[in-house]
Amino acid sequence: MTSPIETQLLINNKLVLASDNGTFDLFSPHTGKFIAKVAEATTQDVESAVSAAQAAFPSWSSLSPVERGKPMKQMADLILAEHDELAKLDAIAMGRPVSTFIDTKYAAVQFNYFAEAAYPQGQTSLNTPGFLNMSLRQPFGVVAIIIPWNAPLVFFSKKVAPAIAAGNCVVVKSSEKAPLTSWKVSQWIEKCGFPPGVINVLSGHGQPSGAALALHMRVRALSFTGSTRTGRAIQIASAQSNLKKVVFELGGKSPALIFEDADLEQAAKETENSINWNSGQTCMANSRIYVQESVKDRFIEAFTNLARSRKLGDPVDGQVNHGPQADKVQHETVKKYIDIGKSEAGQFIDTTPTETSPTNKDSLFVRPMIFTSVPETSRLTKEEVFGPVVVINTFTTEEEAITKANDTEFGLYAALYTKDLERAVRVGKKLESGMVGINCTSPTGCWDLPFGGWKGSGTGRESLLDSMEHYLEVKSLYVRCPGIGS
Ligand code: NAD
Repeated sequence: MTSPIETQLLINNKLVLASDNGTFDLFSPHTGKFIAKVAEATTQDVESAVSAAQAAFPSWSSLSPVERGKPMKQMADLILAEHDELAKLDAIAMGRPVSTFIDTKYAAVQFNYFAEAAYPQGQTSLNTPGFLNMSLRQPFGVVAIIIPWNAPLVFFSKKVAPAIAAGNCVVVKSSEKAPLTSWKVSQWIEKCGFPPGVINVLSGHGQPSGAALALHMRVRALSFTGSTRTGRAIQIASAQSNLKKVVFELGGKSPALIFEDADLEQAAKETENSINWNSGQTCMANSRIYVQESVKDRFIEAFTNLARSRKLGDPVDGQVNHGPQADKVQHETVKKYIDIGKSEAGQFIDTTPTETSPTNKDSLFVRPMIFTSVPETSRLTKEEVFGPVVVINTFTTEEEAITKANDTEFGLYAALYTKDLERAVRVGKKLESGMVGINCTSPTGCWDLPFGGWKGSGTGRESLLDSMEHYLEVKSLYVRCPGIGS
């Protein structure tokens, strides 16, 4: 990337500048260099995009699912073909190492699956004499999709594919921290054969474009992945406008419980990967680990050695598996929590490797940090850090482990490691969490079971089998048919 990128908005299949020509600058979190001038969508652009989506809706929704699926398959193929370019764009925008970029495969599965899965069915009923009754499942019309920056293509595809397959037309707003992959994909939408207005892609901050979508009277449903704080603001905006349906995938403070009979090597390997993958910027990362007192020292040693072996460096280098934090704000936030940990934790381990480590002073690196014996009331234990910072505390009894794990306002993903199957199921049942890994931890999951959180971690459940539900309204149709008999 020699000269800076200049991005546009996609409205009605036209790549356009923001209505007031407004832009914001994007800087590489690794080099600090200016990399892109990004269009900042205005409320006028939101109006135009919603109008384009609304105009496209009657004909798009009346196509057969097979016809709607054709451009979606083209999109899957193009995303796979452009893997290297897409990986590089997220690496320069938010520091995600190209070696960890699995997002194109994920996105292709979403577009390919929903290209063939969109045959929503209702129910029929003959239980009312003289009536043939039925329920229909129909698209909402205009759906807004607001995504975060930590895996933008994953969130773009897992929301857009089911929404449009169901017959809706969408307005997507990318994150201000990582707008480049969404912008790149927006350039292929017409080429894939999507009619104008079916997918509109805006870039910009929460204010004004995100908030304008959340408040919009013609947006009938909104699917959001991001922080719990923003989820609350969107919920309020929905209530203040048209009570649009909202679906939330929010933050986490996920616990992992390590019992003394666990395979400690496996538990250390997987929990270390969970918290440090993507530099700790993963919603379901196990940021709290509770290890049984009797095996604490062995576990911490194994965990620390793994964290020390992380290869920090330029995220476009294929050998690197730990890039910088996404931007200065994230970097400052993580450092603030590290300061809290240093003053409140019983002990901390800075995993700075002893051999050569990157010297780029402009890079927003945070090396994996381990805090032990942290008060359960500390902000470090209670709040989402979204960085490579782990709390390792201990427990003695099973009851204590469950109480500590559940003592949080989040409930996205919990994990437990034990060889005792009955204990695994007993504890698994008691954990207040949308997903529980037994002898595995996040990001382990599966394509076909619900992904989502309890408590402050969200209201939605997404998967190949579940996502379509969010984008369909239900209608009961009562058909008087006296002649059919009772
Ligand atoms: P964020 O909430 O700051 O921003 C997310 C998106 O919302 C961005 O596009 C932003 O511009 C937009 N936004 C901000 N204010 C808005 C407003 N008032 N109205 C409408 N839109 C607004 O989150 P982030 O920093 O981009 O992402 C990190 C967060 O996302 C973490 O909390 C993480 O746990 C969470 N996350 C959750 C999941 C999940 O599946 N549960 C997955 C990934 C990330």
